[in-house]
Amino acid sequence: MIATTEEQKMKLREAGKRLGEALEAVEALVAPGVSTQALEDEAVRFITSGGDVPAFLDYTPEGANRPYPAALCVSINEEVVHGIPNESPRTLKEGDIVSLDLGLIHEGYVVDSALTVAVGKTDPVAYSLMNATQNSLEQAIQAARPGNRIGDISHATEKAFVGTGFAVVKALGGHGVGAHVHEDPFIANAGHPGTGPEIMEGMVLAIEPIANEGKASVVIASDGYTYRTKDGSRSAHFEHTIIVGKDGAEVITRRSSEK
Ligand code: MG
Ligand code: MG
Repeated sequence: MIATTEEQKMKLREAGKRLGEALEAVEALVAPGVSTQALEDEAVRFITSGGDVPAFLDYTPEGANRPYPAALCVSINEEVVHGIPNESPRTLKEGDIVSLDLGLIHEGYVVDSALTVAVGKTDPVAYSLMNATQNSLEQAIQAARPGNRIGDISHATEKAFVGTGFAVVKALGGHGVGAHVHEDPFIANAGHPGTGPEIMEGMVLAIEPIANEGKASVVIASDGYTYRTKDGSRSAHFEHTIIVGKDGAEVITRRSSEK
């Protein structure tokens, strides 16, 4: 959506604050021995206790043949995105890396955010992969300003991985958000500067770099949702929802631990 009024922006900011807190509550449970079901349960409990609605639960994305069955996506190690936490729950192990992706609807306004964290302690390569992906998100956010084009965000996302040895997943990307879970424009995780739709003040965008330790190719599992790396290498994912302001992006899903 394009947020044109201060009231819309205030509600989006409140939605974003609540989502950041919900993700922190889920992140706080991440530890060896914890079930993905417990993470899902906490996401639902936190969101509904605030009077809000989990945005992903029962949502059917374009091209899917059934609604998504959970509030949270939990993608472990070689799982890239959209891992289902509550159908065949898995137990987190020391050294895993786990992507937590969550959406929330507050008074009709939809926001979307993700982070990847280590379970206990992991190895240096996994920390580098997570750091590089988080850095890519920050670079991409810098490119989201009026006068630029969507391709500038895509290019900044991709460019941040040059020299890291990691492969950005070009097949997946970000999207407009605010009124619905997925809106136009699609924001590819790689692209050319100066191409694509113009970025307008008030645009609400979810920017979400995804990168693999090995090759960029991904495959979708028989559950219809879980993407995995084709080569079995690990993957990381970070996402924020922003409002494009006159002078640049306002990140509305920032977690207090990031500030
Ligand atoms: Mg997301
Ligand atoms: Mg998203």
